[in-house]
Amino acid sequence: MKKKYKSSVYKTIPALCIVPLFLFGILMMAICGARLSTAMHQQAEGRLQAIADSILLTYDTMYPGDYRFVKSGKVAAFYKGEKEITGEYEYLDRMKVAVGAEITFFYQDTRMITTMKDAEGNRLVGTGANSIICRDVLEKDHEEFYHNMQVGDGYYLGYYRPLHNEDGRSIGMLAVSMPADEVHRSINRVRIPLIVLIILGMLLTGLFASVYVRKLVFAMNGVQRSLSSVAKGELDHEPGYEVMSRNDEIAEMGRMIIVMQNSLRKLIERDALTELYNRRYANVRLQNMFERAREEGTECCVIMGDVDYFKRINDTYGHDTGDVVLKEIGRVMKQNLAGKSFAARWGGEEFLLVYGECSLEEGVLHVQKLAEIISGLEILSKNGETIKLTMTFGVTSTDGESSPEEVIRIADERLYAGKEAGRNRIVAEGSVE
Ligand code: GH3
Ligand code: MG
Ligand code: MG
Repeated sequence: MKKKYKSSVYKTIPALCIVPLFLFGILMMAICGARLSTAMHQQAEGRLQAIADSILLTYDTMYPGDYRFVKSGKVAAFYKGEKEITGEYEYLDRMKVAVGAEITFFYQDTRMITTMKDAEGNRLVGTGANSIICRDVLEKDHEEFYHNMQVGDGYYLGYYRPLHNEDGRSIGMLAVSMPADEVHRSINRVRIPLIVLIILGMLLTGLFASVYVRKLVFAMNGVQRSLSSVAKGELDHEPGYEVMSRNDEIAEMGRMIIVMQNSLRKLIERDALTELYNRRYANVRLQNMFERAREEGTECCVIMGDVDYFKRINDTYGHDTGDVVLKEIGRVMKQNLAGKSFAARWGGEEFLLVYGECSLEEGVLHVQKLAEIISGLEILSKNGETIKLTMTFGVTSTDGESSPEEVIRIADERLYAGKEAGRNRIVAEGSVE
């Protein structure tokens, strides 16, 4: 059953990677866009100001003196020094073509001389500047920039500078302007590739992050699957390649799961003292061995062995020494296993030996060898005395058709017969009906 969590690492990790990245990208676009716009406007302002400086310097050089406005009747004339400049367009038109900016001289708020034309090609002479400009430039006698001022149907970026007459009063303005569209176009020429670059960077980083996170989540799922099978008692589900092929903490978790499975397997399957299989797991293995013998048509040799007079060893040398003896028997048994065979501690000082693909005669030979080794053992007691011991064995074989209980019963009966007959022997025949 899939558990529902309030929050999920599998969703949180991608969210933690992607959301800040996305927000950072938007912030970058906003900051870069604003900075770029400011820089481009400043650059345009500088250019307009330089054009204005250049025009005023030229006029001062060509026509020294103040700006004056002379009205005779209905006709008004604009002077620079002694020169009337009202209709002087040659220089200004050439300047307009050279620098790409519109140039206008105002008397007060009225255009007296201008390169700006309407749709029909008429100069916008006589039209007025808006009240905000008049207030800022004329009244406050201050140069100003405007980023989006409307003249006719168009929007302009304009630089306005007050013009002074002989008594120092501002009597008009010089305006140098350029279409706002032009500035916006040059901003966009830089801004669009920049935005594309940021989005591309975001997508690439997002892609790498999501590939990494997917792999991480996949590996974490692998760890989770292995842990949940351990929790169900299944110890054969080892973590997969997605976990073990990594080179990080997750792979370490995978290795720990394998160590845990082995420890648990040992606890479940092995006898703690001798480290042979315990009785419960021996029964499972016995079933498997019998099944295989049936399938393959082979024989299986089952032996039950018991230490002779073991109680005496305990009584004489103590229980701890008895344990040492049992351990030593376990070691010898493990060492002498051959082919498809196993040894188990059946209980107390009783041991089960099973040889697969083995006849009764072969089994007896194996046990004879083992009995010889055991009787040759010299185990030292705590007080330095040498302990000698023997074992009695009951041997039987099966083709796997009988039940394990039945076969064990026969081996047990033969062991008992061996004990009855004086111990330290191997009994492999006799009626046990
Ligand atoms: P027999 O030759 O008839 O088998 O005699 P025996 O003394 O070996 O058999 P008995 O059944 O009389 O005694 C078995 C003893 O084994 C009794 C029990 O205390 C001892 N024993 C059982 N398990 C352990 C163990 O784990 N450690 C030790 N030290 N002794 C054990
Ligand atoms: Mg015994
Ligand atoms: Mg016994």
